[in-house]
Amino acid sequence: MTVPLDAFGSDSGADLQRRILVVGGGPAGATTSLLLARNGWDVTLVDRSTFPRGKACGECLNPGGVALLAEFGLLDRVLEAGATPLTGWDLSTQKGSPAQGYFAPEDRGLGIERRTFDHTLLEAAKEAGVEVREGVQVVKVGSGDGRTPARARIRLRRGAEVVEEARFVVGADGLGSRVASASGIHRPVRPPRRASLSWRIQGWGPPRDRGRLILGEGYTVGVAPVGPPSGSLWNATLVVAGEAARKELSARGWDRLQERMESARIPWNTPPEKIDGPWGSGSFHRPVSSATRNRVVLVGDAAGYFDPLTGQGIYRALKSAQLLAELLGPKSHVHPGRALSPVDLALLGLHGPRLDRAVRSGRRLQKTIDVVLSRRLSRRAALASLRAIPSVASGLIRLTGDRVPFPEGRVASTAPTLPLEHPIL
Ligand SMILES: Cc1cc2nc3c(=O)[nH]c(=O)nc-3n(C[C@H](O)[C@H](O)[C@H](O)COP(=O)(O)OP(=O)(O)OC[C@H]3O[C@@H](n4cnc5c(N)ncnc54)[C@H](O)[C@@H]3O)c2cc1C
Repeated sequence: MTVPLDAFGSDSGADLQRRILVVGGGPAGATTSLLLARNGWDVTLVDRSTFPRGKACGECLNPGGVALLAEFGLLDRVLEAGATPLTGWDLSTQKGSPAQGYFAPEDRGLGIERRTFDHTLLEAAKEAGVEVREGVQVVKVGSGDGRTPARARIRLRRGAEVVEEARFVVGADGLGSRVASASGIHRPVRPPRRASLSWRIQGWGPPRDRGRLILGEGYTVGVAPVGPPSGSLWNATLVVAGEAARKELSARGWDRLQERMESARIPWNTPPEKIDGPWGSGSFHRPVSSATRNRVVLVGDAAGYFDPLTGQGIYRALKSAQLLAELLGPKSHVHPGRALSPVDLALLGLHGPRLDRAVRSGRRLQKTIDVVLSRRLSRRAALASLRAIPSVASGLIRLTGDRVPFPEGRVASTAPTLPLEHPIL
């Protein structure tokens, strides 16, 4: 149910014990809301956008993310909405033939348009009973304490502002999280290192079961099939590093993308057409010191983000939703009375360490890849080894797929294996 804006007043006296306000309707916010609503919580989700909306992204869900969708009972819906199964990624430098990395035989990633994916998840959340309010922006947050509820000041479409109270506020508002900064969770601002533009393009030629990553000097290009497998839609994303390249990106991004695709010899039958976008983003490195403060808790990119290169962001958004829903448990566990005990608050504080444990190995891997790719010699040597030893290329792609045990015996995903009878297999 989407509440008309004129019905969106100050707190209506709803039972604060049961009420959770989720800020942001991307994958983290939609799935957190859905899982909490299934647990009996009274969930309101607000987003400043109206859906469906596009989003800067490479638009590929890795196998760990696919497995989580299956676990949440959402995979069929997402496939029906139009998604292309992916068997892995081809990795190349600017020139030269690519190294081919494959996910495990029983695993698939998915290429799906974010406007479709996010809208599908949000519709599922509505059906689970979440009240969704679109086109409204959270401008301020009070994190509350044991006795005081969390508060959010929300700007409505015509500029009026209202204050809403809730037992918890969940910040699922992405990279530049207002909830994190407004609730006093320290987010040191890093100088912009990278920026990106993503386009929707249409074309025929390259195989539609794989993505392609071109790792060039100061840039990365990702090209991946999205939408129905039989279609002709692709995501093309150009990520650049450095201030000069950022400026050039906004002035001549599309030209640069075409040049990069050409020099990497992506086998288009005719040059692909640009049909939507671009969607821009940067800078990406947004660490947080903590994922909770009193009654405010963060999920998805808001809880910390490093780099889009390995395509693990959506997996982490879904994983953080799952971890938070597990931590809060069914609404029936809530004690009567308005106060939260110090023990309750300490329990909520476990969200950050739990999330950190779940994503730590993946983040280390990303940082290692980042260092290797930042120097021309090590980048070329790494790509040459991946080409020469296909099992190493596949090993790397599997690691970024969040479906295999990481080194040090850590398991990146506790999600079950995708059911073998599933149609995408
Ligand atoms: C260039 C690029 C390529 C990427 N490629 C991939 C990839 O291929 N695979 C992958 O898994 N990940 C990829 N990622 C990462 C992925 O996009 C994110 O990790 C993912 O979107 C995180 O989901 P989220 O729900 O946390 O945030 P988001 O999807 O950003 O959603 C946040 C929502 O919050 C809303 N919002 C923000 N502020 C407010 C406010 N103040 N009030 C109300 N609403 C608000 C926004 O409108 C938005 O809808 C990529 C990222 C980039 C930048």
